[in-house]
Amino acid sequence: MKVLVINCGSSSLKYQLFDMEDESVLAKGLVERIGNKGSNLTQKVSGRENYVVERPLKDHKDAIKLVVDTLTDKNNGVIGNMSEISAVGHRVVHGGEKYAESVLIDDEVMKAMEECIKLAPLHNPPNIIGIKACQALMPNVPMVAVFDTSFHQTMSEEAYMYALPYEFYQKFKIRRYGFHGTSHKYVSKVAAEMLGKKAEDLKMITCHLGNGGSITAVKNGKSIDTSMGFTPLEGIVMGTRCGNIDPAILTYLINEEGYTTEELDNILNKKSGLLGLSGESSDFRDINAGEQKGNERCKLALKVYIYKIKQFIGSYVASMNGLDCLVFTAGIGENAYEIRERVCENMEYLGIKIDKEKNRVRGVAVDFTAEGSRVKVLAIPTDEELMIARDTVSLI
Ligand code: AMP
Repeated sequence: MKVLVINCGSSSLKYQLFDMEDESVLAKGLVERIGNKGSNLTQKVSGRENYVVERPLKDHKDAIKLVVDTLTDKNNGVIGNMSEISAVGHRVVHGGEKYAESVLIDDEVMKAMEECIKLAPLHNPPNIIGIKACQALMPNVPMVAVFDTSFHQTMSEEAYMYALPYEFYQKFKIRRYGFHGTSHKYVSKVAAEMLGKKAEDLKMITCHLGNGGSITAVKNGKSIDTSMGFTPLEGIVMGTRCGNIDPAILTYLINEEGYTTEELDNILNKKSGLLGLSGESSDFRDINAGEQKGNERCKLALKVYIYKIKQFIGSYVASMNGLDCLVFTAGIGENAYEIRERVCENMEYLGIKIDKEKNRVRGVAVDFTAEGSRVKVLAIPTDEELMIARDTVSLI
């Protein structure tokens, strides 16, 4: 069975076609600049040169049509025709409180996703546009929505409620939702497999450290707390997002310095985090290079970054009353062994001791637990697309 996975952004679209017999990736690609000048598609197929198509694409329907045309192209494609695609799995950012699991898309699900637009105004609209574009092109193919929020729907009230007037929750649905759920779920499953244990028997902390970043406490296979909240802004320091700050800073900046809400939104989401602290870049590799050259601000950015991660790990050990396994994933977590080493420094009290030699690898699954460590420490490349494809197969 072949499953197409679609992750639709406002002007870009990522896709992967899986053969679910052996979970192999037949092709993956990226469509960029949808609706703009210079729109193009790049498709990667293992063992072949990248195939690039430059074509005007006025909307997402055009983009999906180009994806299907490219997948079925006589010379550069990987399937004979569109009917080989048995199902499509869509990444959807926000499922609100309604979806604790992935779901087969029907009219009711479309309506619920539209109701969630208010909660994810930047992300849900392009996700919905992508689904509609696929439905128009492949009307008889079953489609599944896999939500970034659903894994965290197992959080209990004390973890998801903010101490705001209760009516804010009732009227405006203001609560903590959490994101990156597909990634946390995937790596927690793989971690259990690597340890030869059942996820139901483990207390884990999964650290998704990419340009966006979040940390999740996974107890007995279920998310019991996560660092992102009402939006992906809460939590640890990220590439350009500030993570946790005193909310009174906002009223101070509005009242004393005259900032507008748009300006603040832009600053907190796009100008803060590693970029804001370092003044150099949001990319870990640049900041790491800056630190090595003696740049004080890069040094500071990494110190704050690591400090906040350690704080979340400590607090989740407290929430779970223990820890069996610590997992690192995503761009920084999978590759930056320097960060893994620094996060795990001085954690002996929590039972965390790492083997620095084993840790010194990038982009591969590795168990770098030191002998005598009570807690297992792993790096695991995340694979949200595979998780989406698996959920899609199980639902159809
Ligand atoms: P993501 O959002 O998951 O793609 O992660 C992006 C982050 O991963 C950026 O800060 C990159 O600097 C970092 N990253 C990607 N590849 C590497 C690498 N080989 N070594 C260190 N950091 C990396």
